[in-house]
Amino acid sequence: MKLPMRGGCQCGAIRYEITKQPMTLYCCHCTACQQQSSSAFGMSMLVERDGLRFLKGAPTAFAMETGSKTAKMGLFCDACGTRIAHDTEGKPALSLKAGTLDDRARLRPVGHIWVRSAQDWVAFRDDDLIYENAPDDGYFALMERWSSQEHA
Ligand SMILES: [Zn+2]
Ligand SMILES: [Zn+2]
Repeated sequence: MKLPMRGGCQCGAIRYEITKQPMTLYCCHCTACQQQSSSAFGMSMLVERDGLRFLKGAPTAFAMETGSKTAKMGLFCDACGTRIAHDTEGKPALSLKAGTLDDRARLRPVGHIWVRSAQDWVAFRDDDLIYENAPDDGYFALMERWSSQEHA
C-alpha cells in the first residue's frame, strides 16, 4: 500500500499516519468486537507499533477486560469516542481499527476470525481464510496471504 496512509477519529481531534506496510488485514466476528464496534464485526489491520505516528491529538487508553493477565488497551478519542487501535501487551503489532483510515476504498480483508459468532447474513468468499475461533498459527497464514497480494 502507498505510504504513509493517514486516518483519524470521527471529530478530527486525532490524526495519525501509518509509515510501515501493514502486516495483514482481517475481520474479527467475536462478540467483544461486535460490541466495541457497535456493528457486526471489527476490522483489524496489524501494524508494527513504531509504524503508527500521531500527527494531532493523542488517544486515551483504557484497559479492556479480556479474562487473561495480558493487558489489552483500547485507544480511543476522548472527544468523540472513536476507537483507533487495540494494543496488547507483548504483541509486536497494534491492531489498528481500519475503518478510521481516510482511504477505505481498497481495504480488502484476507480472512475472518471468530466466525462461530458471526452474524448469519455475513457472506464469505471462497478464497477467504476462515477461522472458527482465534487463529492457532499466530496469524501466520493471514500475514502470508496479505503479503502475497497486491494492495495498490
Ligand atoms: Zn474524535
Ligand atoms: Zn474480536
